[in-house]
Amino acid sequence: MTPPGIPLGATPGADRSTDPYLPANGNGGYRVLHYDLDLDYRVVSNRLAGRAVVTARAVQPLSRFSLDLGPRLQVRDVRVDGRPAKFDHRTGKLRIKPERPIGYGATFKTEIRYAGKPGPVSGRWGDIGWDELSDGVLVASQPNGSSSWFPCNDRPGDKAAFLITITVASAYTVLVTGDLVSKRRGAGATTWVYERDEPTAPYLMSVQIGRYEMVDLTTAGVRQRAAITPRVRAAFRHDFGRHGEIMKAMQQLFGPYPFREYVVVITDDDLDDPVEAQGMAVFGRNHLDGRRTHERLVVHELAHQWFGNSLTVADWRHIWLNEGFATYAEWLWSGASGGPSTNTHAARWHAWVAAQPADVVVADPGVDRMFDPLVYKRGALALHALRAKVGEQAFFTLLRSWVAEHRHGTVTTQQFREHAARYSGASLDDLFTAWLDSPALPPVPRVL
Ligand SMILES: [Zn+2]
Repeated sequence: MTPPGIPLGATPGADRSTDPYLPANGNGGYRVLHYDLDLDYRVVSNRLAGRAVVTARAVQPLSRFSLDLGPRLQVRDVRVDGRPAKFDHRTGKLRIKPERPIGYGATFKTEIRYAGKPGPVSGRWGDIGWDELSDGVLVASQPNGSSSWFPCNDRPGDKAAFLITITVASAYTVLVTGDLVSKRRGAGATTWVYERDEPTAPYLMSVQIGRYEMVDLTTAGVRQRAAITPRVRAAFRHDFGRHGEIMKAMQQLFGPYPFREYVVVITDDDLDDPVEAQGMAVFGRNHLDGRRTHERLVVHELAHQWFGNSLTVADWRHIWLNEGFATYAEWLWSGASGGPSTNTHAARWHAWVAAQPADVVVADPGVDRMFDPLVYKRGALALHALRAKVGEQAFFTLLRSWVAEHRHGTVTTQQFREHAARYSGASLDDLFTAWLDSPALPPVPRVL
């Protein structure tokens, strides 16, 4: 939710972000309800032309407002509620002055025509956003790469519905994070229409383009498919062979899978790390070796569908609610599938954390450390400590109710602390303060 009482300055809403870690991104003056993107993309020349209609509601009076849009894309025309609007596009911000100010609470439509050669946003997290592959495209935008391909309010807490129409040469398979509602083959090019009804953070929207074949991951339960290239077929079949079982285990642990379908994409290129998108995960071909070496990553990305995607951080300070939980899911699957137990993982990673400088506060690691492995491992250890404290039944009940009560919403650490407290006879303040608010490492937790 947008914090109440945003003060009205001289330029209300012009650039006001609500993310303390990425203040240059996002705008707190409105909330997006819906993005309608109509895109035409040429793979060979990397040329994107688009029309975006962004429907939003003002949460304060707006004489101007901004959207995030990368500098590689040129804006042709902007209209607000059908009327031409003045705009200025510099340093990744599209600043718009509508003909008439928008009143508090009003719903308004901004139509933007743009084109250019999209490319990733380079920064402290490497290249993120729209990225060309050897023969196709990958989009992985966490945390702030979405503006590399569409105008957006690029902050995690502003979740919206999406309709994406994209036309690409017919030789390619196009996967967008959503349900495919139509596919029309024209002369040489195919138009794919995807709809994402569930509120979705911009960073979790993704487009994957490649010469893929689609295979089913399982025939039972939630629909699970994969986009692969022929040369990885054998390794893929083995490495993802337990996916149906992993999905079943995750649903038993966390409750129903939050979307209608899960799609795994194996790019024909190597990737540093797999990445999650809404109802989707993207792996490099280097994550397959025919020996299930990377199965923990398969579990990690699937767990993000509950922790990160359905329940999304209100701002990036709370990143452990994504990464600590996804890491703990790896340990839970390990224990459930005949591998080392959660206690074994906890002891091993506690020793590893103990050997690092104690300089990260899990619940507010700072922008430089938000994807630090310490946040992941200590976050998982904090959950193990909570489980040891409240007991098996209360722990898994509180996890499932946490997921159910905040389904498709946004969450904060404070909300999780208050939620967990409802399931504990004793106060959890000391436990959470030690594990989340202080850099000193508490003793290793052990469940009975
Ligand atoms: Zn993760």
